Amino acid sequence: MSLVIVGTVAFDAIETPFGKTDKIVGGSATYVGLSASKLGQKPKLIAVVGDDFPQSAIDMLKKNNFNLEGLEIKKGEKTFFWSGKYHFDMNSRDTLVTELNVLAGFDPEMPESYQDCEYLMLGNLAPVIQQKVIKSLKRRPKLIVMDTMNFWMDIAMDELKKTIALVDVVTVNDEEARQLTGEYSLVNAAQKILTMGPKFLIIKKGEHGALLFDKDKMFFAPALPLADVVDPTGAGDTFAGGFIGYIAKTGDISFDNFKRAVIQGSALASFCVQDFGTKRMETLTSSEVRDRVDQFVGLTRFELEAVEY
Ligand code: AMP
Repeated sequence: MSLVIVGTVAFDAIETPFGKTDKIVGGSATYVGLSASKLGQKPKLIAVVGDDFPQSAIDMLKKNNFNLEGLEIKKGEKTFFWSGKYHFDMNSRDTLVTELNVLAGFDPEMPESYQDCEYLMLGNLAPVIQQKVIKSLKRRPKLIVMDTMNFWMDIAMDELKKTIALVDVVTVNDEEARQLTGEYSLVNAAQKILTMGPKFLIIKKGEHGALLFDKDKMFFAPALPLADVVDPTGAGDTFAGGFIGYIAKTGDISFDNFKRAVIQGSALASFCVQDFGTKRMETLTSSEVRDRVDQFVGLTRFELEAVEY
């Protein structure tokens, strides 16, 4: 089952109440792919970087089983750069800088060997590029999942809605769901987004877990309460990578399996936030993931006693 991921491979500079980084490796596709790779996937990456992107970072992606045939390295240009600052509760952040650099002229090429794509993850990226990737596949994948963010809602809402109409699953955070629909209630926002085309919607609520919707059903997964949260950057992408990675592994696109995939995504995201940038994800092992999924099950499982009210 082939999983193709398009998104940003980036430099990030991050400030949280627990510290500050210089330019480190980040990007939506980096986090999605690292996460999916922990579930045994060999993600086929479509992305662009400048020639300032270090060989050590490329080696790290290779070590984590990325297929880099679709990674373009543009000579004389700079890699996409994003900088963000988190507040004390770390559920909200300010974007300080977004420098598109190589992304401004990105015209993604689909390598022939990626045409077997069954699962397509459109990581956070310009909506026109997301559309182009869908159109460059000769056969529609079994499942297309897309992520996006407020940045694209602010500057490319019309194109974003066109992409949303082409996909099966949309993932956004609570703030973005409200911005996209003008609805405060997440239940109402979800129903509005589902009328835009996708069959499923996931609303990520940071440390408050994630909601999965289709037209008739709703499912909630908590986030694992952790003692050591230092940097939430990439948690949403890591969630998405775990979600689609699990579906690609199991090949089952039913709502019931999506529930399991949401738990896998949540478990993976809980590792991402425990260190700055991609650090924790780089060394994470499959057995650590399995243990944490068990913790999730234990966190929410309870027996109901038959009691007369
Ligand atoms: P998340 O915390 O899951 O929303 O993802 C953070 C990652 O998204 C960072 O590593 C950034 O490099 C990347 N990112 C930030 N802004 C954008 C954007 N406008 N388009 C694509 N990727 C972005």
